[in-house]
Amino acid sequence: MSPSRVLVLNSGSSSVKYQLLDMDAGRRLAAGLVERIGERTSLVRHTPLAPGGRTRERTGQVADHDAALKAMAGELAADGLGLDSPELAAIGHRVVHGGMHFTEPTVIDDRVLAEIERLIPVAPLHNPANLTGIRTAMTLRPDLPQVAVFDTSFHTTMPESAARYAIDVRTADEHRIRRYGFHGTSHAYVSRETATLLGRAPEEVNVIVLHLGNGASASAVRGGRCVDTSMGLTPLEGLVMGTRSGDMDPAVIFHLMRVGGMSADEIDTLLNKKSGLVGLCGDNDMREIRRRIDEGDEQAKLAFDIYIHRLKKYIGAYYAVLGRVDAVAFTAGVGENAAPVREAAVAGLEGLGLAVDGERNAVRGGGPRLISPDGARVAVAVVPTDEEMEIAQQTYALVGKNN
Ligand code: ADP
Repeated sequence: MSPSRVLVLNSGSSSVKYQLLDMDAGRRLAAGLVERIGERTSLVRHTPLAPGGRTRERTGQVADHDAALKAMAGELAADGLGLDSPELAAIGHRVVHGGMHFTEPTVIDDRVLAEIERLIPVAPLHNPANLTGIRTAMTLRPDLPQVAVFDTSFHTTMPESAARYAIDVRTADEHRIRRYGFHGTSHAYVSRETATLLGRAPEEVNVIVLHLGNGASASAVRGGRCVDTSMGLTPLEGLVMGTRSGDMDPAVIFHLMRVGGMSADEIDTLLNKKSGLVGLCGDNDMREIRRRIDEGDEQAKLAFDIYIHRLKKYIGAYYAVLGRVDAVAFTAGVGENAAPVREAAVAGLEGLGLAVDGERNAVRGGGPRLISPDGARVAVAVVPTDEEMEIAQQTYALVGKNN
């Protein structure tokens, strides 16, 4: 039997998340994470997903990514799922920025590593951490194919009219300034799952995907190909997010520099970490915001209204970009769980054929489901995202092809 397991790694600057999947059986074998790498209080949490498996958790310093991956390998080995197993087919890595170069998942070699490194100036927080994870994983199993799956790839099909900013072309090209988009694996997975939910081929349907997590982005997908998305050069553009501002007049930045006396780094922190919902009302968790609204908190209500107003503008914009919309799909932490967000985002859009059925919208949990009334012109759906499964599938498909 050929090896059918794929290990998916998502390496951040201070954390590593992992999942081990069996692709032939189509199921997860284990999942876990190492958090606060480098601190004294690092956390290792591992969950074997076999029946009766219990989560194991311990704290104590995990010095670096090398130690983190060794801790992961030790946990997997304790469940009889060690990385030395001949059943392991490949390791799939989430890589945030693939620029315009990487339009598809790619087997990693020295050339690929160099290209991911070359993109660090446009992804200074993410690509270095992703590279560290890849290099460390390569030392664990140098013989194994390692595959990079890029957050940007799904968006490389955007036409120039959507991907370019209206700034001086030479300056833009010199600094590789354009709209790349992120959350691509999620938008790809959810748009495809939405087509399946409708019982149609992805090539036949136009979908607006609303990925609303702590980070949030919208995309317009025509026949399975992305034609526009709300994040840009960085994940800062677009929707109101947990801690990011999303769209605003870029002149705000000059004003804060000239009049507010703030540095570029201070403004970067303000817009990425202290804005969005947290900046507007002090909370970035939608559950807490809803609870405050129920208690009559005006500030939380305003934050919610600003969040919804922006979301609605993007639904309208992508409706116009697509011309014909078959479905609007909500996904990620807020999109999958917050019924009031879904209801408010679609309220008043009956003229566009969009509506939500109150009872269907109130159902919690479960797989992909329709929340629009029967016979609606446009389907409104909740489609849980699964970025790890998408990375594993893409990795397995690529390695299978090469074998
Ligand atoms: P990310 O991967 O971007 O960190 P997630 O997709 O996990 O984020 O989404 C996290 C967010 O989802 C939380 O900040 C919270 O606002 C929201 N969320 C999670 N569960 C619920 C819920 N039951 N109701 C409302 N919002 C929720």
